[in-house]
Amino acid sequence: MASTNGHTNGRSTKQPEPLDWTTFSNVINGKLESTQKTRHGILPATGENGPEVPLTTPDDVERAMTAAQAAFITWAEVPYAERRAAVIAYADAIASEKESFSQMLTKEQGKPLKFAAMELDLTVHWMKTIANLELPEERIVEGDREILVRYTPLGITVGIVPWNYPILLAAAKIAPCVVTGNPIIIKPSPFTPAGDLKLVELAQRFFPPGVVQCLSGDDNLGPWLTAHPVPAKISFTGSTFTGKKVMESAAKTLKRVTLELGGNDPAIVLEDVDIDDVAPKVASLAFLNSGQICLALKRVIVQESIADKFLAAMVKATQELKVGPGTDPEVFLGPIQNSMQYERVKGFFADIEKENWKVAVGGTNPDGPGYFITPTIIDRPKDDSRIVTEEPFGPIVPLLTFKTEEEAIRKANDTQMGLGASVWSGDLDRANRLAQKIQAGTVWVNTHFELDPRVPFGGHKQSGNGSYEWGVPGLISFCNSQTLFLKKNPTKL
Ligand code: NAD
Repeated sequence: MASTNGHTNGRSTKQPEPLDWTTFSNVINGKLESTQKTRHGILPATGENGPEVPLTTPDDVERAMTAAQAAFITWAEVPYAERRAAVIAYADAIASEKESFSQMLTKEQGKPLKFAAMELDLTVHWMKTIANLELPEERIVEGDREILVRYTPLGITVGIVPWNYPILLAAAKIAPCVVTGNPIIIKPSPFTPAGDLKLVELAQRFFPPGVVQCLSGDDNLGPWLTAHPVPAKISFTGSTFTGKKVMESAAKTLKRVTLELGGNDPAIVLEDVDIDDVAPKVASLAFLNSGQICLALKRVIVQESIADKFLAAMVKATQELKVGPGTDPEVFLGPIQNSMQYERVKGFFADIEKENWKVAVGGTNPDGPGYFITPTIIDRPKDDSRIVTEEPFGPIVPLLTFKTEEEAIRKANDTQMGLGASVWSGDLDRANRLAQKIQAGTVWVNTHFELDPRVPFGGHKQSGNGSYEWGVPGLISFCNSQTLFLKKNPTKL
């Protein structure tokens, strides 16, 4: 068993050795492994090749599954407090590597350095907070019987991670999974493997072999993992399109799934807002991470009486947001992360002329190298246009209007998605009343995208399936529920 304050794999955690950021390996059964063939991503700001990373084979998958099965037997028996201490020590080690993780995040993901550093801070906070949550135990005592409801480790989990927050979203799967006694195999996005490989390499100092593993590969790897008979659960964050495939594949062996999927978040802006205060906030919440956030504002729905003024204030704020490489400290929007997504976002720009959309700001993009897109607002497109009904996952957002509260709610809910939403108003009671009519997993008033690891996060409708992540329900989602009936005297029927 790993010592949580001493020496694991021959290394001291008190004076941590820095990670070597020149080579990137799979992590199988506590060892760093290269593969015969390798692959690499493309750095989004320059178009250059990213780091060489392993190309996992089916044989590697088998060995990782076997190691996870062996690790499960002993890890599940480790006392909760020890597992918790290991997660917290691991989080501290990530904090001490913050600078290197941030640099790699900016390089391979593209986000500005200050936001990369923020992702690392959130990662550490999420891991520690989740590790410190308590798994509940229910007890009913009645006469000579006691009923006990307890939560036991579920089994081997595969964590499938997207490219938009590769470190935070991987860590926020690892922490609840291992603290509840389960091994995890992380599968990074092929677009952002390097940071996740290092994240799992670092974990080897705190957990026994096979508890936290990482396999990097191409598009074949995800289906191999979801179809494999060994895992008990798939914890997936990604698009709704892929989520459906994951669920279909997992169904064959009745694996548990947590699916955190796409969003089409509306912001309802009521006429009583302070326009100069709210419009810049709404603009930055649409364009943060270059719009590549499941919870980015994707539809701005403004009360008609203030629409022109609000749009003008949003345009002004948007013009002040600098686009460029994430290494420039003035930049707010880094590049789109990969060529596939870049082409998809550019498809919406191609629709501008075809659909006769009115562009309030932006509308044209620089030539490469680098996948840069100018933040763009489309002024009042038709409700059924693609920019309203689909998730661009890039910095292009429509502004729509409403006259009555009923119309605002109808428009906000007119989507297959139900991840997040916000209501902006000077009247908290009115906003709260409206917020409760929105079909979404998280609804904010006068803010958006404020998350907390102590509470569950997930989506209504096609934004998710299975249990929510985070909070106590998130912990429970890595467990089986077991009910014990304990009687002193054998029942006489
Ligand atoms: P994606 O669905 O293309 O990929 C996500 C992950 O799934 C990647 O690791 C990918 O390699 C893997 N994958 C692809 N095909 C697979 C298959 N058939 N079986 C198993 N795994 C497979 O998503 P993306 O483009 O990386 O991320 C963007 C999407 O993720 C957006 O729709 C966004 O809204 C969503 N997202 C949701 C949340 C959330 O918490 N709800 C958070 C971030 C991103």
